[in-house]
Amino acid sequence: MFFEGIIINISVLIAGFYFISKLSRLPLDSRIPVGKKIQIGFFNGLLCFLLMKFSISTIDYPPIDLRHIPLLIAACYVGPLAALITAIIISISCIIISFTETGTIVAINYCIIGLVLTVCSYYIRRSIRYRAILFSIITLSFIVIGYAYSTGPNLVKFGEFTLLIALFTAVSMYLAMMLLKDLKRKKLEILTYQGQAQHDFLTSLLNKRMFDRAIRHINQYKENTVLMLIDIDYFKKVNDIYGHDAGDLVLKEIASILNAHTAYGQKVFRIGGEEFSVILIDCPAPLAKKIGEDICREVANHPFILSNGTRIRITISIGISSSGQDGDKNSLSLFRLADRALYQAKSDGRNRVFYASDETVHHQTV
Ligand code: GH3
Ligand code: MG
Ligand code: MG
Repeated sequence: MFFEGIIINISVLIAGFYFISKLSRLPLDSRIPVGKKIQIGFFNGLLCFLLMKFSISTIDYPPIDLRHIPLLIAACYVGPLAALITAIIISISCIIISFTETGTIVAINYCIIGLVLTVCSYYIRRSIRYRAILFSIITLSFIVIGYAYSTGPNLVKFGEFTLLIALFTAVSMYLAMMLLKDLKRKKLEILTYQGQAQHDFLTSLLNKRMFDRAIRHINQYKENTVLMLIDIDYFKKVNDIYGHDAGDLVLKEIASILNAHTAYGQKVFRIGGEEFSVILIDCPAPLAKKIGEDICREVANHPFILSNGTRIRITISIGISSSGQDGDKNSLSLFRLADRALYQAKSDGRNRVFYASDETVHHQTV
């Protein structure tokens, strides 16, 4: 029964952590969003409840279990909020499972452990290993004090219980941390591959594949969706005169200028060699024109300084189309219009913005 209990408790713990780590595509640490921290705290609490249900029977001591491990993991990895929620659920579970005097003492003890770990998790920002060791010592101290308080003075039993729970804690913390480390590595690998599949290698902007996807998903009925197509003027000359590396430097700097001019949530793409695009959601036409003109002016005034110190000037041309206030254009016509507007900006002399207004659109499409 004893060994069965150990195996079951550790299996529940490991399976639970695997599931909990699946809640976030980011590795479990303090940088995950608040909503995820609350979810993790909640499911961690449920995991503790399960661990208590499958507690390990011992002949000489009250049943023991690994309920404190999810609490420790929350405090070490995720932070105070998740730790506090986990501790509250443990305390409630103690009373639900055993509504006795001992159950209440244990519940109060876990409230105290939870509060202490919450504060420690907030203030102590050392390495995971340091936090794991320190927080485990703190938690074990409270657990054994609680044990001594509820069972009365018996030094031998107290010593044996302390050894037993310390051994369980060390083994299960080691296993849990090993699992989380492995899952973290896998998640980071996936995020890297996804990033590489979605971003342009040179400029780090979203790539053509993401542009095609974004264009397909533009809601044709949504008002004021703006598509900007941007092309560098006479870029071939830059490569021919100053070399390919100079061309690459210009592409990267233009990418930063585009990023600086677009707000959070607006997307910038590199869709070809020296062609870029910006999709602006819910952006009225006058504002779109202003953004386009600001970008155009900024590029024209920006001194591009090459690796040998040479300063060169670059200009761009921009074609803009908008789904309009009725949201009446589909994504394909939005693209065609922006492309024609860009062609117009080029033929009008470059270094300018051309906006495909409804009249010009009509004029161009007939
Ligand atoms: P226009 O004003 O009509 O747009 O003229 P342009 O010279 O910019 O246009 P063109 O299409 O003739 O030339 C585009 C050049 O972009 C050709 C190619 O050498 C260069 N190019 C494409 N991709 C890259 C890249 O990744 N790095 C560098 N350095 N150059 C690139
Ligand atoms: Mg081009
Ligand atoms: Mg060009």
